[in-house]
Amino acid sequence: MNLLYKSTRNHEINVTASQAILKGLADDGGLYVPESIPKLSVSVEDCRDMSYQEIAYAVMKEYFTDFTEQELKDCISRAYDSKFDTGEIAPLVEVDGAYYLELFHGPTIAFKDMALSILPHLMITSARKNHVENEIVILTATSGDTGKAALAGFAGVEGTKIIVFYPKDGVSPIQEKQMVTQVEENTLVVGVNGNFDDCQTGVKKIFGDSAFAKELSEKGYQFSSANSINIGRLVPQIVYYVYAYVKLYKEGRIQENEKINVVVPTGNFGNLLAAFYAKNMGLPIDRLICASNENKVLFDFFRTGEYNRNREFILTSSPSMDILISSNLERLIYRIAGNDAQKNKELMDALTKGGVYRISPEMQKELSDFVGEYATEEETFEKIRTLYQNTGYVIDTHTAVAARAYDRYKDESGDTNTTVIASTASPFKFTKNVMKAIDETCELTEDFALADELSKIARVPVPKAVMEIRTAPVVHKTKCEVEEMEEMVRKFLHV
Ligand SMILES: *Cc1c(COP(=O)(O)O)cnc(C)c1O
Repeated sequence: MNLLYKSTRNHEINVTASQAILKGLADDGGLYVPESIPKLSVSVEDCRDMSYQEIAYAVMKEYFTDFTEQELKDCISRAYDSKFDTGEIAPLVEVDGAYYLELFHGPTIAFKDMALSILPHLMITSARKNHVENEIVILTATSGDTGKAALAGFAGVEGTKIIVFYPKDGVSPIQEKQMVTQVEENTLVVGVNGNFDDCQTGVKKIFGDSAFAKELSEKGYQFSSANSINIGRLVPQIVYYVYAYVKLYKEGRIQENEKINVVVPTGNFGNLLAAFYAKNMGLPIDRLICASNENKVLFDFFRTGEYNRNREFILTSSPSMDILISSNLERLIYRIAGNDAQKNKELMDALTKGGVYRISPEMQKELSDFVGEYATEEETFEKIRTLYQNTGYVIDTHTAVAARAYDRYKDESGDTNTTVIASTASPFKFTKNVMKAIDETCELTEDFALADELSKIARVPVPKAVMEIRTAPVVHKTKCEVEEMEEMVRKFLHV
């Protein structure tokens, strides 16, 4: 029996996993969700001696039911290989009473690699299964990390092209350098004069333009998305929560079935939603703690039931979380509305029109597993500094938001559950702010000099991903206005 996927805005739409992966977003603008969240068919004890890749298979086979065992195992083994700098793929490190799940050991040193290293393989396999002859054009908006991870995943992959739009002044210098140095001919990187929400809205607009899609199809192209709305990104993210739980169990840190909490630094809500799916698959997770930076739309939402994007957009030191429209939240809204597409659509329409919606008290009750917390810029920097001073462990700004949010949660609740903090980026990706937090007197400004200094004090080598871009020439110099995004696509595809 195949698990089918429905649009969150229309029940009539029913597609297979491979079709959902190919399309990214449903035609009506909704997100694909599985008809029901499947249960894990292995116990924690069964998983005790499994590798990351084996756990990945145990989780993904429940979702991607129209893939053969061989197809799925091939995708997994191509994704989680020596591109990662550790065979563990996602190490779990105990520091100061919490477990940091290091999701940054992939090729671009941020957690997006966990899903984007497998997505191209899932997509190519899906295209083959559905007899797609068109070339697939990946269109991506990025707040910094998705862009490079998607470029790394799709660069040079036959039958695909990838176009990345990023906010010109909204990403870190290392993030920008990582992207604009991508050399493969099937890649295009464009800096947009706007913020991340502008980029994302622009991309969604191009996706929603059916006349443009038809024109492209005649020229042999079709769009797909590598953004976290793609179900092919969400599912691979469930894996590491299962993996972390198994590791805690195996190392005797928890009993079988003991509940743990997870804390996730959140932007587009993909990572935390994956933890929610893991919980619904049967993984014993108690609290899902949503950590926001000063763009605390989600904090306010979890406290009040009102989602309101009408507020100042703040550029923070955790740019990958500078988001006011958390796209993946729609999947949660749909679920707490009792899988009611109509009700979800009304709320999403209200968000598009007026920038605000309020959920009903019944829906709000369904959110009792979630806790919203946030950290200010000052608190974030302080957390990096004190953790380093007390333990020698260095975390990046995004992870620091989560770590600080967890401190606050612990103080407020007295909850003593074993807790996993998703560590979403290497501190080497955000060296300037990390060094500023640790040593205010540091006068270095050049990114690579900062990386060397950080390497010294953290006693970890500079990651390969940073070494590589040190001297790499800038290949992509294109900049555009928000209104010109479609034109950029046309130019690149010669249509
Ligand atoms: C993308 C990203 C986040 C936010 O993750 P979402 O799934 O969008 O909520 C947090 N931290 C880092 C470093 C990221 O790259």
